[in-house]
Amino acid sequence: MRSTWVTPGGVHPPENKHQSLTMPIGSLPIPEKLLVPLSQHIGAPAKACVKVGAKVLKGQKIAEATGAVSVPMHAPTSGTVTAIEDRPIAHSSGMSAPCIEITSDGKDTWIDHKGVADFEHASPQALTKTIADAGIAGMGGAGFPSAIKLSPGHRRPINTLIINATECEPYITADDSAIRERAAEIITGIGILSHILGNPVNILIGIEDNKPEAIAALEPHVADTGISVVSFPTKYPSGGEKQLIYILTGKELPSGQLPADAGMVCINIGTTYAIKRAVVNGEPLISRVTTMTGNACGINRNYETLIGTPVSHMLAHSEFNEHACSRLVMGGPMMGFSLTSAEVPIVKTTNCILAPSYSEIPDDEPAQACIRCGMCAEACPASLLPQQLFWYSQAEDHDRLEAHNLFDCIECGACSYVCPSNIPLVQYYRHSKGEILKAREEKVKSDHARERFEFHQQRMEQAEKDKEAKRAARREAAEKAKATVAANAGTAKEGTGPAPGSAADIIAAAQARAAAKQVSPEEQQAKFERSIAGAEMRVQMATDKLVETNAKQTEDQKNILNAALEGAKQKLEQAQARLAEHVKKHSEQVK
Ligand code: SF4
Ligand code: SF4
Repeated sequence: MRSTWVTPGGVHPPENKHQSLTMPIGSLPIPEKLLVPLSQHIGAPAKACVKVGAKVLKGQKIAEATGAVSVPMHAPTSGTVTAIEDRPIAHSSGMSAPCIEITSDGKDTWIDHKGVADFEHASPQALTKTIADAGIAGMGGAGFPSAIKLSPGHRRPINTLIINATECEPYITADDSAIRERAAEIITGIGILSHILGNPVNILIGIEDNKPEAIAALEPHVADTGISVVSFPTKYPSGGEKQLIYILTGKELPSGQLPADAGMVCINIGTTYAIKRAVVNGEPLISRVTTMTGNACGINRNYETLIGTPVSHMLAHSEFNEHACSRLVMGGPMMGFSLTSAEVPIVKTTNCILAPSYSEIPDDEPAQACIRCGMCAEACPASLLPQQLFWYSQAEDHDRLEAHNLFDCIECGACSYVCPSNIPLVQYYRHSKGEILKAREEKVKSDHARERFEFHQQRMEQAEKDKEAKRAARREAAEKAKATVAANAGTAKEGTGPAPGSAADIIAAAQARAAAKQVSPEEQQAKFERSIAGAEMRVQMATDKLVETNAKQTEDQKNILNAALEGAKQKLEQAQARLAEHVKKHSEQVK
C-alpha cells in the first residue's frame, strides 16, 4: 500500500453526501432555452462566431477561443440562436456578461462528429489540439484550459500524473457518481493523458476513503495498467492541487510554483472523462455531471446537465420548495457562493446546486470583532495566517497581503468555518485578490502606455533631426548654386553672348525640346497614310453593314447607317487631302 502524507489544518464538516447518491446519474428534459456564457474559464472570453437567427446543431462551435488562454464554446443542443447579449451569470456579485441564447428545436440533432479510438497512434500535439478544440477547461476548480496544462513546454519532463478524485466538499457527489458509473471511460481518459505527457512513471488517482464504491469501481480497471488508486483519510480540504500533491507525494510546492515546475500534472477526474469523450467520441464539452441537492428539494441526485441549463430548470425537476429554501448556492457550502437569480446557467465548472433548508444552512450570523483566538490559523491547510490576512485586507494593504502569500489561499473557507466571531474571512480574501489583480492589470496597461509614449517621442525627435538635416543640405546646395551663378555672371561680362542660366538660355532650351519632339517628313507621311488606311477600313465596314442589313432596316435606321457611311467617306477625303498637301510641301522643300 502506498504511503500518504497529512496536510496541516483542515476541518471535518458534516459530509451530507449520501442524499444525492441514492439514484444513478439522471438526465433532465432539454430546456426550452439554453444560455451559454462566453466566459466560463480562466483567460480571455470566447468570441461568438454565430449570428442571431442562425440554426445550430448540437456540438457545433458557436464561439471561438481568443488568445492563448481561452476555450471555444459549443451548442449544447440543436436549435436557433435567439440572442447574443449580456445576461446575469453565475457569479457571487450577480454580474451580467455576454451570453449566447439558443432556443431548442427539441430534436437534439448532433453535428457530424467522430473521434479517434486508437489514440496511441495520434501525436500528443494532435490530441492536445483536439482537447483545446473541444473547449475543455478544468471542471473541478476555476476552469483553467486543460490543453495548456497538458503542454508544460519548457518545464521539466512530467514524471507524475495525478488524477484528482478527492471531491472533499460536503454535499457534492458529481465525481463520486461518475466514477461509480463510468470507471472504464475514465481509465481510458487517463491513458490519453499519459500518452500526451510521455507516459509518466507515476500515475496516481487520489481519492478520499469516504468513497468506497467509487474505489471499488476503479480497482478492476487499473489492474496491470501501472495506475495506482490511492485513498487517504477524509478531511476538508484535501482537493486543492498543492494539498493533494503533498498528500500523495510528500512534496511541498513553494509559493508561486506550479505542479509542472516539479514534474507533475494534476487533472480533475470529471475533466479526464470529458477528455475521453472529446478524443475517442469526438464530442466537445457541452454537458457535465452536476449534483442537485439540499433539503429544499424533494429529489436529490446527480444529473448529466447540458451547459447553459438555467438553474430554475433543474429546480423545477427536483421538487423544489422555494419557501423552505434558505438560499441557493452554486457549488458546496464551503466554497460555493449564493445566487442572486435562479435564471443563471450551469457552466463548465458547476459541480453542484445546493438548495438547503433554513435548518441546514441558517442565515449568516452577524460578524463580531476578532478575538485573536488563532483557530483560523490552525484550520488553514495552506499554513497561512488568516487573521493577519483579514487585517491587511481591511486596511487594503496590498503589499503586506502579497508578502503573507494571499495568493496561496485556496479559498477553502476552513478559516471562516471555525471562526467563533463569524467573520466571513474568505469574502475579504476574494475581494483583496480581485483588487490586487485589477491593480496589476492597470499597472501593465499604464506601463504599456508609457512605453508607447516614449517610443512616440523618440520617433518625433528622430523625424525632427532628419528634417533639419535635409533643410541644411538644401541650404548648402542653394548657396553653391548662387556662387556658381555669380561666377558665371562675371565671366559673361568679360566674354560675349548670354550667360548660362539667363532668360535667353531658358528659351533656347525650350526650343530645343520642342524641336526634339518634331517628327521627320517621312514619319509624318507614314502617319497620314495610316490614318487613310483606317478611314478606308471604316468606309468599307459602314458600306458592308448597310448592304447586309438593308432589307431588314426601318427607314430611320437606314438613314443613320447612311449618315455614318457619309461621315466615314468625308474623313477619308480629309486624310487624303492632308497627305497630298504634305507630299507637295515636302517635295518643294527638297527642290
Ligand atoms: S478565528 Fe476568527 S476570531 Fe479567531 S483569530 Fe481567526 S479571525 Fe480572529
Ligand atoms: S480560505 Fe484561505 S486562509 Fe482560509 S483556511 Fe482556506 S486557505 Fe487558509
